[in-house]
Amino acid sequence: MVRGIKRGWGNSVFRWISGLFCRDVGIDLGTANVVVYVKGQGIVGNEPSVVAIKRMGQRGNEKVIAVGTEAKAMIGKTPHGVETVRPLQHGVIADYDMTESMIAHFLSLANGGRSQFAHPRVVICVPACVTEVERRAVIDATLGGGAREAYVVEEPVAAAIGAGLPIAEPRGNMVVDIGGGTSEVAVLSLGGIVIHEALRSAGDEMDQAIIAMLRQNYTLHVGEVTAEEIKLSVGSAMPYEGEEEEMEVKGRDLMDGLPKAVRIRAAEVRDALNPSISRIEDMIRDSLEETPPELARDIVDQGLVLTGGGAQLRGLPAYLQESLKIPVITAEKPLFSVALGVGKILEDLDAMKKVLISVDKGMQ
Ligand code: ADP
Ligand code: MG
Repeated sequence: MVRGIKRGWGNSVFRWISGLFCRDVGIDLGTANVVVYVKGQGIVGNEPSVVAIKRMGQRGNEKVIAVGTEAKAMIGKTPHGVETVRPLQHGVIADYDMTESMIAHFLSLANGGRSQFAHPRVVICVPACVTEVERRAVIDATLGGGAREAYVVEEPVAAAIGAGLPIAEPRGNMVVDIGGGTSEVAVLSLGGIVIHEALRSAGDEMDQAIIAMLRQNYTLHVGEVTAEEIKLSVGSAMPYEGEEEEMEVKGRDLMDGLPKAVRIRAAEVRDALNPSISRIEDMIRDSLEETPPELARDIVDQGLVLTGGGAQLRGLPAYLQESLKIPVITAEKPLFSVALGVGKILEDLDAMKKVLISVDKGMQ
């Protein structure tokens, strides 16, 4: 949905004046997590991209009751009339109003809770594959959430900058970001994207694969929060030392509907994750095949850098290194690479605007 962006003069002037008193903000608007960066301060917040709403009468009339960590804690446990929503699906806005509420919440958090006066300049990232309409929707939701000016940067560019890759140089840099809803691969050189591919196989799909495995092997029904916990504690891409590890999982029996507990093995979880990991591997291989030879040469030497929460899956770098035969390095803080990249752009916004072709300004 694209919204009109013209607002009255009075409102603009008020926003401009109030903007003088707040700091520029960078937002990594992920499907799983939102990470907030404040200029001069660094990362100030990291919360799940979840909103809890209470329905008031007919559809369309709902009140936001919690955002972020508080809302995630409610998933699968809500009483009648209350719902948890993940406003972003596969990197794009699925629920516009909820996205706007979420951005408003994080902008107020960035400004120490003083939302009514927080009208900063905001740099926000979008996956490189989004359409013009989807990009516009992100800008509008950012302005609607309280920003005075909104700039969009493509996620792989931010991830690469945040991971410390020298993307401005005439050199092939490959970055692979594995988030909740999407995995993206990009080859960058001279400040721009040369090759880009994205895929819906990422963290959420892995959680769904664990749910399906438990259903099939144990007739056990678990929710996505439990599935993610299993992935984080015993999930892996390759066999590892001590992998005979077991874990007790509790859920509901599909046969008799009663609660039950089963013990599962790490190897079973690895098998369940394997198809998602293979799809990510194939995507990277395709991109390597399409990369111009002069840039491919650099990637063979320097390798690829993994970012995003999914990069933390046990054994993933080793697995990819073995199958792709190039060095695979995990960024220092994979969950924060994009936000740190957005932050670097923000710290020098006026200079970066000239360099980054993907920066887009949403005027009021
Ligand atoms: P997004 O950018 O889509 O918000 P993130 O980069 O924040 O996503 O990554 C979130 C995803 O990373 C989730 O699916 C989460 O389960 C997954 N994740 C986080 N830590 C780990 C880990 N140690 N092992 C496997 N997956 C992980
Ligand atoms: Mg991300």
